[in-house]
Amino acid sequence: MELSLTTEQKLIQENIIGFAQKQLNNNIIERDRNQQFLPELWKKCAEHKLMGLPVEEKFGGAGLDPVSSVLALEALGYGSDDGGLNFSICAHLLACVVPIWKYGNENQKKKYLPDLCNGKKIAVNAMTESESGSDVFNIKTTAKKHENGFLINGSKTFCSNGPVGDLILVYALTDESKGYYGGITAFIVDKNAKGYSVGQKYEKMGLRTSGISEVIFESVFVSEEDIIGGVGGGATVFNHSMEWERTGIAACHVGTMRKLLEKSIDYVQNRKSGNEVIGKKQAIAHRIANMKVQLEAASLLTYKAATGLEKNKENMIHAASAKLFVSEAFVSSAIDTMQIFGGNGYMTEYSIERIVRDALGSTVYSGTSDIQRNIISRLLGL
Ligand SMILES: Cc1cc2nc3c(=O)[nH]c(=O)nc-3n(C[C@H](O)[C@H](O)[C@H](O)COP(=O)(O)OP(=O)(O)OC[C@H]3O[C@@H](n4cnc5c(N)ncnc54)[C@H](O)[C@@H]3O)c2cc1C
Repeated sequence: MELSLTTEQKLIQENIIGFAQKQLNNNIIERDRNQQFLPELWKKCAEHKLMGLPVEEKFGGAGLDPVSSVLALEALGYGSDDGGLNFSICAHLLACVVPIWKYGNENQKKKYLPDLCNGKKIAVNAMTESESGSDVFNIKTTAKKHENGFLINGSKTFCSNGPVGDLILVYALTDESKGYYGGITAFIVDKNAKGYSVGQKYEKMGLRTSGISEVIFESVFVSEEDIIGGVGGGATVFNHSMEWERTGIAACHVGTMRKLLEKSIDYVQNRKSGNEVIGKKQAIAHRIANMKVQLEAASLLTYKAATGLEKNKENMIHAASAKLFVSEAFVSSAIDTMQIFGGNGYMTEYSIERIVRDALGSTVYSGTSDIQRNIISRLLGL
């Protein structure tokens, strides 16, 4: 497998890192504390084409291949200290823009992609329900045939970007007898549609600059023109979007893990205990060696999954493997960094505790670690 980056890929990464470090990191401690999502930062990220990385330029995207798109997200995770904003961008891009780009028809792409790519509109992926998280086979939201469209009834929970979302990609049962495969359909709902509302907004441990809420559908009419991937095609759309989401968010974590490693090395070369720097203590040096190995393994798994996106039908196992390994490695690297920084690591000022809180969600969203293990073992024939 070829691992060297092209000149263009290096330039993309340098540009995103430079932009993020200069423009996304101001007041992050306060914004995190106040759960503040800033629309102006969203706009700036859109100007840097982050909202439409793989989308063709004619629809307002950057027209990047999947590997370059994933490398761009890695750069975002390195340059931007705003884990919540990074996560909101990933949720919008990977679970909403990508499925519309991949499964939408020409009219749908023309109608929706430009404003999703230029930052005017924010998208929400709505699959999880209060009784159906890991168990996606058990969703209860229905879409019943009505004249030239469908009426959607039900509610979804833990929807990232829910409080600020303009377009909702919602999955609903169109044929209860068929269930998940063949019975679920993906619909685009506008936030102004009659019967649509935002329900409970949640406060969470980490990723606090990314809003999350319930979204409620009370006889919301959706025309047939706003079905993505055909009636009954929802499982295909969702599974594909999860491959992108698991890979793209893993890349973002790889970027943040690289930053944690660099911060740790810098810290232990300067912090003294007794008359020598703590980097000379084997306990510290070994912890850093483990972080380095985890980072290298995490990036290799992520690049492997990225290489198979849009090319390889068997890629689901690679995306699940990357998601599983990288999220767990991210959590342990963040906790190791906190330990290396001692008391300072626990203090808000040092921005390590925020990364620990942000990291902890990664083994839950996009399918928990247990669910990734289920996917991997099922694909191994177990
Ligand atoms: C920060 C964040 C952002 C999110 N954003 C979105 C979003 O934008 N859109 C959206 O639709 N959802 C979103 N979610 C929801 C997320 O996908 C679910 O929380 C996740 O899939 C787990 O579902 P659950 O919370 O219902 O937990 P449960 O399914 O109730 O799981 C509870 C525990 O049981 C384990 N478990 C359950 N079933 C099995 C099984 N079959 N085998 C082994 N173990 C099992 C799980 O691993 C977990 O440890 C988000 C969640 C978080 C935390």
